[in-house]
Amino acid sequence: MKEEGAEGTHVLAFPFPAQGHINPLLQFCKTLASKGLKVTLATTFFIIKSGHNEVNNVRVEGISDGFDEGGIDAAKSPEMYAERFQVVGSESLAALIEKQESSGYPFKCLIYDPAITWPFEVAKRFGLSTACFFTQSCANDAIYYSVKKGLLSTPVQGPTVSLPGLPILELHDLPSFIYYWGSYPAFIDIVLNQFDNVENVDYVLINTFDKLEDEVLKWMSNIYPMKTIGPTVPSIYLDKRVEDDKDYGLRLFESRKETYMDWLNMREAGSVIYVSFGSISGLGEEQMEEIALGLVSSNHYFLWVVRKSEENKLPTSLVEDKLEKGLVVAWCSQLEVLAHKAVGCFITHCGWNSTTESLSLGVPMIAMPQWTDQNMNAKFVVDVWEVGVRVKLDEKGIVRRKEIEECVKEIMEGDRGEKIKRNAFRWKVLAKEAVDEGGSSNKNIEEFVASLLCA
Ligand code: UDP
Repeated sequence: MKEEGAEGTHVLAFPFPAQGHINPLLQFCKTLASKGLKVTLATTFFIIKSGHNEVNNVRVEGISDGFDEGGIDAAKSPEMYAERFQVVGSESLAALIEKQESSGYPFKCLIYDPAITWPFEVAKRFGLSTACFFTQSCANDAIYYSVKKGLLSTPVQGPTVSLPGLPILELHDLPSFIYYWGSYPAFIDIVLNQFDNVENVDYVLINTFDKLEDEVLKWMSNIYPMKTIGPTVPSIYLDKRVEDDKDYGLRLFESRKETYMDWLNMREAGSVIYVSFGSISGLGEEQMEEIALGLVSSNHYFLWVVRKSEENKLPTSLVEDKLEKGLVVAWCSQLEVLAHKAVGCFITHCGWNSTTESLSLGVPMIAMPQWTDQNMNAKFVVDVWEVGVRVKLDEKGIVRRKEIEECVKEIMEGDRGEKIKRNAFRWKVLAKEAVDEGGSSNKNIEEFVASLLCA
């Protein structure tokens, strides 16, 4: 429902420039725009070079990160990218805010991803109110918070970890930056620094929903006024209240839609395994081969997303033999695929977006986490929400073909699979309920909009 007087209130959103961070914040922007706010999303020139200037009533504006031609891949290291992004980005973001001030529609609030902390300072220079928008699960944030505040000492000693609001965790359930302490210096800073300004912002938003992370949300909400606003999945897949909201709308990879949708249309309900490891993770050649052979020997149909940069790792047998039951694509509209009745399960790296999309569409998962927050998401998929199984690694850290085949059989053919399907359906209902009229996330969004109008 549109709020009275909302059109005059202009909000600026600034996501971390990666697909998995843009999608949830852009989606949230669309929801705000549907409630009548004027919304602009700023992202890097490199990302919008393909010419996006508006997505479902959200205006898209470019700023410079210092790598306009090559983006993050053009930087020599993640540290170097972060440094230049801060220097060039803060000036460029300030210039956008200034330009907007003189246009007569100044920004009132900056919503930023705390994976980058400096936008807070930029907003304060111009007297904007601030909202930080957490794009990962509350459970992961609780771990990072605990490390930051010394409630969990590092390197973490096992065999298990017990923290408020969380199930008992084995070390391999922890986010990889914590589990392999010291392994990713640039990233550990990012995830721990997320909390730098949280005490000073006006709003703390998080892409999850109350029932999904009930206990840990209660714990974190005692510390920060965290408001759930998720799952940020396009409206057509959930409450259907936002017109024409069918896709995220800003994609960094190309796909050829016609091949895989036609292919899916020919399959029986629940017969296809969808496989994707998201927009960043890269697997080794040996692992790719084991997945390929496991999928083929499972004897089920499969649709596998292998990004262009990963294609050369596919086993030649898979490339050369005409696949009888499999289709490999470079990218797809994941939501459209997950929503297709032919899809019976999702072999996923458990990125937070993929996880919440799968939950929202009621698709059982085979969790194959790779790094960062994915281990923890996998733990919840299997043990808390009971919507999937998790693969076991061998002593070399590889998931063997037999293991893939067995997990597929367990979900697609076994009794446990039936139970998991029922649970997945239950979570789909709860996800819709959260964002629908009267739902917990919808209520928080409406309160956020109302308080921006009063501010
Ligand atoms: N995605 C997509 N098509 C693909 C693979 C992924 O549209 O072929 C989308 C997916 O729907 C999700 C995002 O890319 O919204 C990936 O985010 P996630 O948090 O799952 O993983 P990340 O890429 O950040 O590791």
